[in-house]
Amino acid sequence: MSNSRVLNFIDGAYAEGRAWFDKRNPCDNAVVAQVAEAGEAEVERAVQAARKALKGPWGKSTIEERAAILHRVADGINRRFEEFLEVECRDTGKPKSLARHLDIPRGAANFRIFADLVKNVPTEAFPMSTPDGKGAINYAVRRPKGVIGVICPWNLPLLLMTWKVGPALACGNAVIVKPSEETPTTAALLGEVMREAGVPDGVYNVIHGFGPGSAGEFLTRHPGVNAVTFTGETRTGAAIMKAGADLIRPVSLELGGKNPALVFADADLDKAIEGCMRSAFANSGQVCLGTERIFVQRPVFDEFVARLTEGAEALVVGTPDDASSTMGPLVSREHQSKVLSYYDKARELGAEIVTGGGSPAMPGALAEGAWVQPTIWTGLDDDSAIMREEIFGPCCHISPFDDEDEAIARANDTEYGLACSVWTENSSKAHRVAGQIDTGLVWVNSWFLRDLRTPFGGSKRSGIGREGGVHSLEFYTELTNICVKL
Ligand code: NAD
Repeated sequence: MSNSRVLNFIDGAYAEGRAWFDKRNPCDNAVVAQVAEAGEAEVERAVQAARKALKGPWGKSTIEERAAILHRVADGINRRFEEFLEVECRDTGKPKSLARHLDIPRGAANFRIFADLVKNVPTEAFPMSTPDGKGAINYAVRRPKGVIGVICPWNLPLLLMTWKVGPALACGNAVIVKPSEETPTTAALLGEVMREAGVPDGVYNVIHGFGPGSAGEFLTRHPGVNAVTFTGETRTGAAIMKAGADLIRPVSLELGGKNPALVFADADLDKAIEGCMRSAFANSGQVCLGTERIFVQRPVFDEFVARLTEGAEALVVGTPDDASSTMGPLVSREHQSKVLSYYDKARELGAEIVTGGGSPAMPGALAEGAWVQPTIWTGLDDDSAIMREEIFGPCCHISPFDDEDEAIARANDTEYGLACSVWTENSSKAHRVAGQIDTGLVWVNSWFLRDLRTPFGGSKRSGIGREGGVHSLEFYTELTNICVKL
């Protein structure tokens, strides 16, 4: 796989597609690679390769054999760490310091955790009585679901893709990955690692392209795909559900969010500022779990706004290789236009722009990049577009609140339900509030603290299902109950 051409990976070999599309560097919008777009023929080949692989040695492999292979995959990522780092940062524009500590290590960890987990999952068994007095025994076995379509977004490309591929392969499935058209490279590079680790041909396939009329849609419509796991926008999730409806095909959907943070007056403000800084601005705000709505109890509102603003203004916008940079560009000029349209809307709606609100001036070729300023607003109503729609940029709105019930009601007043953070030093209040938030994840006095054994996912329009630990196994396996008459 050359750096300037990113190929599909089908049946253990790199393959061209029906056309080529440009991959641009978000820092300066220059074309950095040509990507092979998979058409229906390539998707068909990938599905056939995956089905064939399930009938071969992979289909008969033991848990121990698969676990050993997946540990070798993790080793392979670590061996080629710098290569993964280079292309992930080229595709996304994120600072290397971030990807070095988050994206690439988690890419490897996602294989290890599920390799170890599948070895230790018990199954249920029920002895039962029968009229002849001899009884019967029931036990459930987990079988792989088959061919899993894995459709991924661009914000944490390797991390989110392996979060699905790790458990899918640990459970004995074959996968067809459709990475985002914005970030195709690490998924393609992983093909080499899979091959080196001894993953049989056809077990891991990658097809590149777009959604409608392209690889994404062809994959989700294909009857040879047994289940689809998707991370991305809520609207796309709905299209994927519809595509599989006639096939009664299971979907796992990790979708958008409009996540709140609740900062009580008794919070440790140092911790709250540090956590809210990361949750609003890390990865240029392009984190599904990121906070775009911050509610702060009135006595500490002014101090909180001043200190978060100080933090935002200290962020250093720069390129991945610049060691001083703490914030990269957005992923593309297209996404930059979307985020800037919200910056304009906030101004039109009369928000107080506490800091930011536009694009930073960048020197030379960087002026063509997808840069935006970290931005903080106050003063808007809860029903304004800024408070209701996911922006997915480095920005947040801060509102004051007076009491606990009000804070909970306002946090829950959204169609999304992914994540929330609660900041208080009163542990009774922390438990009481956390238990009333309508989200799949609630953090108390932290953010993005993840134990990979725990359930991850959203409620309401943030998704269907949970992944993580044994919850992933629920999706990637089919349970068969075996009843044996004694
Ligand atoms: P997106 O929905 O635009 O695209 C995601 C993927 O779906 C891409 O690979 C795209 O090519 C593909 N796709 C688009 N239309 C399709 C179709 N009709 N059929 C099949 N595939 C199709 O999302 P994005 O812009 O890449 O990512 C940002 C979004 O992802 C945000 O909404 C963010 O909140 C969400 N996200 C959620 C989580 C989570 O865990 N809940 C994690 C990260 C990102």
